[in-house]
Amino acid sequence: MDRRTLLKLLSATALVGCAPSQTESPLNVVVAGAGIIGASIAYHLAKAGARVTVIDKTGPASHASRGTFAWINATYAKQPRSYHTFSQQSVSNWRDLTTELNLPVHWGGSLEWFDSPEREQKLIAQIAEQAAWGEDARMVGADELAEMEPGVDYGGALQAAYSGNDGAVDPVAATNALLAAAVKMGAVVKAPCALTGVSLVAGRLKSVETSMGAIKADRLVLATGADPIAAEKFADTFLPQRTTPGVIAITKPMPPIINSIIAAPGVHMHQREDGRIVLGEQDGAPGNEAHALRLEGRPNNFPERWIAEEHAGRMLAIAELFAPAIAGAEVEDVYIGWRPLPLDGHPVIGASPNRPDVYLAVMHSGVTLAPVAGQLVAYELTSGESAPDLADYRPGRNFELVKRY
Ligand SMILES: Cc1cc2nc3c(=O)[nH]c(=O)nc-3n(C[C@H](O)[C@H](O)[C@H](O)COP(=O)(O)OP(=O)(O)OC[C@H]3O[C@@H](n4cnc5c(N)ncnc54)[C@H](O)[C@@H]3O)c2cc1C
Repeated sequence: MDRRTLLKLLSATALVGCAPSQTESPLNVVVAGAGIIGASIAYHLAKAGARVTVIDKTGPASHASRGTFAWINATYAKQPRSYHTFSQQSVSNWRDLTTELNLPVHWGGSLEWFDSPEREQKLIAQIAEQAAWGEDARMVGADELAEMEPGVDYGGALQAAYSGNDGAVDPVAATNALLAAAVKMGAVVKAPCALTGVSLVAGRLKSVETSMGAIKADRLVLATGADPIAAEKFADTFLPQRTTPGVIAITKPMPPIINSIIAAPGVHMHQREDGRIVLGEQDGAPGNEAHALRLEGRPNNFPERWIAEEHAGRMLAIAELFAPAIAGAEVEDVYIGWRPLPLDGHPVIGASPNRPDVYLAVMHSGVTLAPVAGQLVAYELTSGESAPDLADYRPGRNFELVKRY
């Protein structure tokens, strides 16, 4: 589907919706998972007139939506073109949401460069493709770079890729704002409240079982992120994932240092509207046995504060090479996030092939995709129609291993 058709469909969702008629009672939807995906789905469902209950076994934005770098983009990694268009649409929806809900998104574009000549050549080709696909993307030379980000030392790089449409958000604040807006429209949020089972009669969903008792439901949405068992247990379908960890460090608020998202060799960073600098580690966890043992059980926190601080210290030291003014930053939070990563790197959105009333919404790049995913999921659930743009992302597809991230 081209972008114009997708835009038409998206604007139609506001009209089609499921505003309750005089005779029909609204659709009861339970959304399991109050990360940014569950929150966006709840917001769009409530807007479309559904009766929504959001449950989370821990609390809003407590997992990937907290330990995320939160870069909103449709950059070159978003392949093929249909997935790129899908991401582009969501970036554009973020701009609307930012205004609609006064969300803390900083729209400063991004600058990326690499230290190997081979990778730089590839980047130039990727950026040319981006431009051909309608992105505000171009290679920028040293003089312009110095003007754009006077506080950044490019470590001898003579050019970098600039993507003007990109932004970064405070994902916890955005998740909470989406939930608060849903609650204003009648949604209920329960946490900590774990989904424990589903009650079916003749294959149709009647209610969901939770740690706080049963909740009547016509549909259940699993926005359970990287949870390894939810799809099999509640949707009776296998969702192959290759979930990977990433470390995020957040500083205390600082005076303005950088405006763009800086994707430098070895570290990514951006400065939030509130002055906090977010650092994303670029090397994955070491592949040794000791680390594998430590990562069993997918911890979100380091076992000791000093280990977290040491980790953050290493990230800050790299960041300081590129943004010297970051020296002396105090680290406020260090978090291990686990990417919800379907095996082929693309979202999984749609009804379970084996339980039609149980719907899955699991994806990486979920911060970028939350607005479009929320809108299309709400459209499908409340209208009963299929959104053609989700056709590539159904849970029943054949998953091949594609390492995109
Ligand atoms: C290190 C890192 C960097 C990233 N960088 C980016 C980026 O720059 N840009 C981008 O777009 N994306 C990025 N991502 C991906 C993005 O953060 C995720 O795709 C997104 O946060 C997923 O949101 P979610 O709501 O699906 O999952 P989550 O935020 O993990 O939420 C799932 C929720 O489900 C709840 N849950 C699970 N099981 C149950 C149950 N049985 N009952 C009730 N609740 C349950 C959990 O408690 C959790 O709160 C990154 C991720 C990581 C880890």
